[in-house]
Amino acid sequence: MTTTLFTNAHIATGEPGSTAASTLPLQDILVTDGVFTAFGPGLAQQYEAQGGDPAAIEVVDLGGKLVCPPFCDTHLHLDYVFTARKPGAVNESGTLFEGIQRWSETKSDLTVDEIKQRAKIGIKKEMLHGVQLIRSHADVTDPNLTSLKALLELKEELKDTVTLQIVSFPQEGMYSYEGPHGESGAELVEEGLKMGADCVGGIPHFEQCREFGEHSMHTVVELASKYDKLIDVHCDETDDPNSRYVELLSALAYKAGIGPKVTASHTCSLGSADNAYFFHLTKLLKAAHINFACAPTENLYLQGRQDTFPKRRGITRVKELTEAGVNVSLGQDSMQDPWYPLGNGNMMLILDYVLHLAQMMSFEEIDDALKFLTVNGATTLGLRDMYGLETGKPANFIVLDANSVFNAVYERCSVLRSVRAGRTLFTREETIDTGLALL
Ligand SMILES: [Zn+2]
Repeated sequence: MTTTLFTNAHIATGEPGSTAASTLPLQDILVTDGVFTAFGPGLAQQYEAQGGDPAAIEVVDLGGKLVCPPFCDTHLHLDYVFTARKPGAVNESGTLFEGIQRWSETKSDLTVDEIKQRAKIGIKKEMLHGVQLIRSHADVTDPNLTSLKALLELKEELKDTVTLQIVSFPQEGMYSYEGPHGESGAELVEEGLKMGADCVGGIPHFEQCREFGEHSMHTVVELASKYDKLIDVHCDETDDPNSRYVELLSALAYKAGIGPKVTASHTCSLGSADNAYFFHLTKLLKAAHINFACAPTENLYLQGRQDTFPKRRGITRVKELTEAGVNVSLGQDSMQDPWYPLGNGNMMLILDYVLHLAQMMSFEEIDDALKFLTVNGATTLGLRDMYGLETGKPANFIVLDANSVFNAVYERCSVLRSVRAGRTLFTREETIDTGLALL
């Protein structure tokens, strides 16, 4: 039996309303064989009083830092990372559609090994920023399904370090793509599900016409029901307020009774739609219980490109959805790919952007902000059963360089330690060396 006692932690569970800055007492965390077995103050003394030998257990003093569940990146493209500077891949216009074009024209030389090499670097960056759960899309509009093969291998190889969910994603459309042997994107998505992808993907706003987009939403829900998979659709990633596939996706999911298993990613068009439409849609979203994933930095970069001024921000209605009780989580989306030249997996930065862009900056909202990276993410991923700071669950948590949620957000703080099943994945020491006399 392996027992580790982590002492002196301020604990933020991520649950909404649980993390007011002044109400987090110092607590200890007991982990036995990779599972949380107790939380509370004075666990060392209790352990000794119950006849336990303190010398027989490992004790880690967390020094009053903030502990929370590991971060979730609920929208990432690991097959694309670090391809932005490839010859022919540079996106001159900064639009989503040029990004897709550049990718399409340069993806034919991909191999399983080189995708894995790039993706591993991306995963390591995310891991060092406290991420332990990632949902990655894999482009399956490729008759060889190279991206999917690479990510499925990584999912298995790295399962002790990261929980990887993979979306069978038709980047070039379900009904607008035709492969060299006449394969449709929809057929390749289905093939990807048979190979082991966790989620059905779609991209209705990119299809050649509305009818194809609508058809694809029906197909997504049918495939998810047929293979018992989750759904994650790139949905309405456009400033066009008439792109309203989220409405159809939600209604179909509601009818099929699978709303909580569905995620609408991006939904930028809601940032342009009028309030009357959103008012009507909200009723359906609340009934269907679908999830939203927002990628603020990437959509800030990609959207508004046809605007002069006023220029739209391109992100979905995070504040209004949250206030309506709809689950919203966040994603990095890109790391140096044809859709975004930056991106390093720092989810605290992603959070910082969304709080500003969505104007969610009351003290209550800031105190509650870690929910977007933690429990909301796990809800999107459908993994709440195994996630969170509760006895009996896998001992997965991170330590932030702050003593409260407010200070963590305020400082855009670093992650000092990541623990998975009781095993420390990394530690970081922050040192400041200066000869100057500080105030
Ligand atoms: Zn995406």
